[in-house]
Amino acid sequence: MKVLDLFCAHDHGFEGWFGSEEDFQGQLARGLVQCPLCGNADIRKGLSAPRLNLRAGTSADPAVAAVATQPQSGSDVLTPYALQAAWLHMARHIMARTEDVGQRFVSEARRMHYGEIEERAIRGQATPEQTTELLEEGIAVLPLLLPEAAKEPLQ
Ligand SMILES: [Zn+2]
Repeated sequence: MKVLDLFCAHDHGFEGWFGSEEDFQGQLARGLVQCPLCGNADIRKGLSAPRLNLRAGTSADPAVAAVATQPQSGSDVLTPYALQAAWLHMARHIMARTEDVGQRFVSEARRMHYGEIEERAIRGQATPEQTTELLEEGIAVLPLLLPEAAKEPLQ
């Protein structure tokens, strides 16, 4: 497995996973490698882009998607492209592992906390006031603004 830092013609940075270098070149030649943000197929490899290791937490906590960011040692400088790609990657990760309950988020989080319904990982909308209330009740929530682009499935 080969993980490549790629950039489209519009300088969107993203990560591509390939079986091998030949696999990447083959897909590139056939126009199969596309930018997840804009669909551009004019892709080039980044030289030595720093990278973030992002891991979504387990769903042990019902209302929170915990994310640890651990820059690799020796790569303290993050380019905006790398950050953008990493953030999109993380947002997709969270969305793939949580159920969207929309406006019911606050009540669902409460009902889970008080054992009325089974615990699961959820996401949805809450106002800053509601978020504060939940936190004060000891319910773990993580305010996140998910980018629109993350709502499209990964290729
Ligand atoms: Zn792009």
